Amino acid sequence: MAEHQFLISGHAFVAPKLEPALYLVSTPIGNLKDISVRALETLAGAELILCEDTRTSAKLLNAYGIKTQKASLHEHNEMAQAQNIVDEVKSGKAICLISDAGTPLISDPGFPLVRMAAEEAISIIAIPGASAVLSALAVSGLPTDSFSFFGFLPPKQAARISRLEELKTHQPTLVFYESPKRTNATLSALAQVFGSDRQVVVARELTKRFETLYRGTAGELADEFAGETTKGEVVILVAGASKVAQVDPDQWRAVLKTLMEEMPLRGAVDKVAADFDLKRKQVYQIALELKNAE
Ligand code: SAM
Repeated sequence: MAEHQFLISGHAFVAPKLEPALYLVSTPIGNLKDISVRALETLAGAELILCEDTRTSAKLLNAYGIKTQKASLHEHNEMAQAQNIVDEVKSGKAICLISDAGTPLISDPGFPLVRMAAEEAISIIAIPGASAVLSALAVSGLPTDSFSFFGFLPPKQAARISRLEELKTHQPTLVFYESPKRTNATLSALAQVFGSDRQVVVARELTKRFETLYRGTAGELADEFAGETTKGEVVILVAGASKVAQVDPDQWRAVLKTLMEEMPLRGAVDKVAADFDLKRKQVYQIALELKNAE
């Protein structure tokens, strides 16, 4: 087969000539068919493909008959390699960056290279495609209008708990990547820190044969995964904190007490209920207790 070609179901296609640039090419997160025609053209048309692990990527590239030269770019050599790669692009080459799965740089190598490429103003072109974070979010049934992605939590228990403490009152949907080895520990840490009632979704083995979605409270899922060491790759999604959960009861009671000294009871109740997003009835009840205690 000629250079710069690729195969789909045994049919050969010629890749168009590429502009010199650094191409960030998304690859599948499990199902080898989840790759765009443009990604295949780019991988086949490039002079070099930088892989997180050349052996892992060989499986994908061989499946599509792509013969482009490969080199490794991983967290241990990316700082040292970045300048060479940028210089190669400047000299007129089209170079692709791929990771073992999904979108490069998303909890994967490439950031130092892309930062240097941006600083040196070479073309950086995204060839979008699969990424576990967006697929998991879309199927989760949790709010998608506002979400935050936190990558992997710290592997050690104490650091993980303290990171979760920082995120306890975060309102947008929270998305984490997790190793199969630590899924159970993270779910029980979530139940401990966020409360066992918080809604959680575990998206396991997306796009693969044993794709499964687990929905429930943090407590339920911690129990379900207890003792498990391997359940495949997972994304853990957590419903954001509700506004009410964030309100410290001591804080609004203190404000209510002060306001009751300055204005009629009804006005104080209305203001506190509106300012703290609380039910008026609940605030009124406390106002009566405060009044009776005077
Ligand atoms: N760059 C990739 C992306 O765009 O999704 C993520 C790479 S990160 C090193 C690997 C983590 O992504 C896994 O530990 C898991 O949390 C998540 N992941 C990747 N593929 C997945 C899949 N098919 N199903 C569920 N989670 C997956």
